[in-house]
Amino acid sequence: MDSVEKLTKLFESFPGIGPRQAKRFVYYLLSKDPNYLSEISLLIKDIKKDISQCTLCKKFFSKKQSENICNICSNPERNPEELMVVSKDSELIAIEKSGIYKGYYFVLGGLIPILEKEPEKRIRIAALKERISKAKEKGLKEIILALSTTSEGENTEEYLKKELGIYGLKITVLGRGISSGAEIEYIDSDTLKGALENKK
Ligand SMILES: [Zn+2]
Repeated sequence: MDSVEKLTKLFESFPGIGPRQAKRFVYYLLSKDPNYLSEISLLIKDIKKDISQCTLCKKFFSKKQSENICNICSNPERNPEELMVVSKDSELIAIEKSGIYKGYYFVLGGLIPILEKEPEKRIRIAALKERISKAKEKGLKEIILALSTTSEGENTEEYLKKELGIYGLKITVLGRGISSGAEIEYIDSDTLKGALENKK
């Protein structure tokens, strides 16, 4: 395999990127000057140095010192009664940007495909349970499942409802202002707001 093929394979493994797009990225890089390429490789090489994963919500954040809790989880002004579960960082960011939600979050790190035999390997279920136990001591009352309305999203929702039933908390899902097949991160703020107001 030559460098073009190797790099194409690498890009193909990125979420949402197919072989043709991967190849376009490679030829785009080939068209750039060496400075641009060194900058990009340095940024990739160091990405983990400046970024930490929050021990509570599992979101990645850029750390100033050596803190291990993000600015949302460490904010005492947030509502301790609500914990919203999303599948990935970009969804948390989209909801946060809309400014409609004031509780805390948890990032699952994935969704469970239908018929998956080992769902616990697809999402951070153990860490979520740990988070809920801690949050319960601080007054948690409601878990909001904010998952995409795709088949994987709905399958994950069912699994979580079953797994989290033991806590005796209210479990709600976003209202169906969100059309079927919608991915949370691409939904506009108004629709998100409606979905949150109409949660059930
Ligand atoms: Zn956090």
